[in-house]
Amino acid sequence: MEMRDVSNEAATSGSALARALLRAHPGFAPSDLDAPCRRTWTMPSLPGKTMLTRVHFLALCSALIASSLLAQESKEYLHQRLTSEETRRAERVSQVSSTQSPGQEGFDVTYYKLDLKLLLSSAGVRGSVTMVARSLVNNLASITLDLMSSMTIDSVYAGGIRVPRAQQPSLVTINLDRSYSIGQLLTVVVYYHGVPGSSGFGSFTFSTTSTGSPWVWSLSEPYGSKDWWPCKDHPGDKADSLDVWITCESRFKVGSEGRLISVLDNGDGTKTHKWKHRYPIATYLVSIAVAEYTELSGWFKYSSSDSMQVLNYALPGSANSASSSMGVTLSMLQIFSDLFGLYPFIKEKYGHSQFGWGGGMEHQTMTSLGSFSESLIAHEMAHQWFGDMITMRTWPHIWLNEGFATYAVALYREKKYGSAAYLDEIINSIFPGVKGSNGSVYVRDTSSTSTVFNNALVYHKGGTVLHMLRHVLGDSVFFRAMKQYATDPRFQFATASTEDFQSVCETVSGKSLGYFFNEWIYGGSYPTYRYEWGTAQNGSNYTVRVTLSQSVGTSNPPFFQMPIDFKFMGTGLDTTIVVMNNLKSQVFVFDLPKKPTSFQLDPNNWIIKDVSGTIVNIEEAASVPEEFALQQNYPNPFNPSTVIPFDLPKASQVRLEIYNGLGQLVDVLLKDQMFAAGHHTVQFEGVSASGGSLPSGVYYCRLIASGSPIQTRKMVLVR
Ligand SMILES: [Zn+2]
Repeated sequence: MEMRDVSNEAATSGSALARALLRAHPGFAPSDLDAPCRRTWTMPSLPGKTMLTRVHFLALCSALIASSLLAQESKEYLHQRLTSEETRRAERVSQVSSTQSPGQEGFDVTYYKLDLKLLLSSAGVRGSVTMVARSLVNNLASITLDLMSSMTIDSVYAGGIRVPRAQQPSLVTINLDRSYSIGQLLTVVVYYHGVPGSSGFGSFTFSTTSTGSPWVWSLSEPYGSKDWWPCKDHPGDKADSLDVWITCESRFKVGSEGRLISVLDNGDGTKTHKWKHRYPIATYLVSIAVAEYTELSGWFKYSSSDSMQVLNYALPGSANSASSSMGVTLSMLQIFSDLFGLYPFIKEKYGHSQFGWGGGMEHQTMTSLGSFSESLIAHEMAHQWFGDMITMRTWPHIWLNEGFATYAVALYREKKYGSAAYLDEIINSIFPGVKGSNGSVYVRDTSSTSTVFNNALVYHKGGTVLHMLRHVLGDSVFFRAMKQYATDPRFQFATASTEDFQSVCETVSGKSLGYFFNEWIYGGSYPTYRYEWGTAQNGSNYTVRVTLSQSVGTSNPPFFQMPIDFKFMGTGLDTTIVVMNNLKSQVFVFDLPKKPTSFQLDPNNWIIKDVSGTIVNIEEAASVPEEFALQQNYPNPFNPSTVIPFDLPKASQVRLEIYNGLGQLVDVLLKDQMFAAGHHTVQFEGVSASGGSLPSGVYYCRLIASGSPIQTRKMVLVR
């Protein structure tokens, strides 16, 4: 049985209240919280979900206060959130400009035509690229294209007139035939030749197959298009359409984008293959693959009357696996179409060209594959929606391509083979890649291929974020949000940013998700949870108390706010409660109708996490102690964090002070706050009131409760 959102709502409203009070009254007194805390809140009964009946608001609120560093933590959290949002804005601005070459702001590309001849003997190309663009400014008299100077420009024409150009190491500046006004179309043709350079994952490669036959292929992502063709090489400026004409020896087949409209025999031992693509496309998705391929064809029947060709170009030695993967490919097209909307390039084709790189590349409508493996086919096919149809607006948001494709493999497995296969993919393929990583999913350094395509962060953690989002939103909302994003006309055949995706999820769910995207996309690390739990009989019910704390190994985020499943099992009891954990240290109290004998935190692995220091403490933890007592902190010695337990036989106002070995007050962890009777813990982070790290040494904690003798204990901080 699963019960969602009950204590979740309670915890959220409690902490939102505390935060609101902190903002309004930074020096708030505990009595400020009294009114709402006194209410005992009764859950509306849900049909078939009667296990949990009450959440004790009093206990929950005192837990909020008991969270030792609530005040500092919340202020710190707010401050860090503001800082990180400012940083995000600044980064967005700088990344857009840093990846677009100077001289490219003034025009928007609408069309490219590549008309290239392969020169096998020199491993070179010769031909022309035609670009049509719309002027975005008045008086546009010159433009800049990206092209490496290893390619020699023979001539450039603008508006049919030969015009001067100047080549720099990776750019060519072209003086147009005249000044263009806003909205006017300009046509530029660059005639060039040369031996393409190799950058990133290869760009453009002349190689041979195992039988010695020539094999030519491209892989331009992220910045390699300019190694072999002149263009405005920025994902934010997609051309509306594309033609790729490749002339090569007659024995070869050529794979590229769109539909093969003709193969012209030139009568000189060469043929010209004309590929025509009439969908928007980013430059890094333009490709060719050339070899003596075996051609295999299938048909994706997407309605009772319509079919689309699926075309595989495989080396003869791989023809069998390419053939046997056809059925998988066709059913996969249906599965992804059901999940994300009909395959985006349905009027043309989908297919694969085999290339000599060990993985795959989602070239639009014609993925390049090293081998025909099911997972690889799924990853690259998912990119046709996420990456190709909707392209990340700038490279820092590459997780919108790679995290989505990584996660889509798990979704494919779920639909094809069932939920166990989904979980197997998440737990055994995706999660392990995240462990040990500590950067952000958002790519702050896009200068190198290895940072843009960081496997742990962009792929694995990016995919994990979607898995976690699914639990945050719930299945039906999550799948509606994914489909809504994939079919949103603002992003289809265009570009999107993380904020665009977030906004779709917020609109569909009605939930505010800033916390989630801030911590998981822009922050680093993942949580390590530590919990204690206990239960005691309370009339005919059992009161359960769970104390949860987390460490994150980073200051951004200070902690992870997340809904977490708590699962309680016992004789006649099997219940899951979803709580909203929105404090670094937090106590949750529930009443259950049967005695729980076991507790599991996030049993279904919805969160990437470590769990440590599990302490099962049946009976005592929820009982009322007989005496007022300050217990010894643990661990002790400690570095830098320790837990200070204390017991209250009755509700009391509590003050907890920390002194150093010289008797100087260094912090007040609890400032005369009301606590219910019971066992409590406070976390001490080894920092002073001003937030500075305290040095190694002896410290004393001093507990003062109304009407009880002061108690003191010694602690040792060893850094
Ligand atoms: Zn990918």
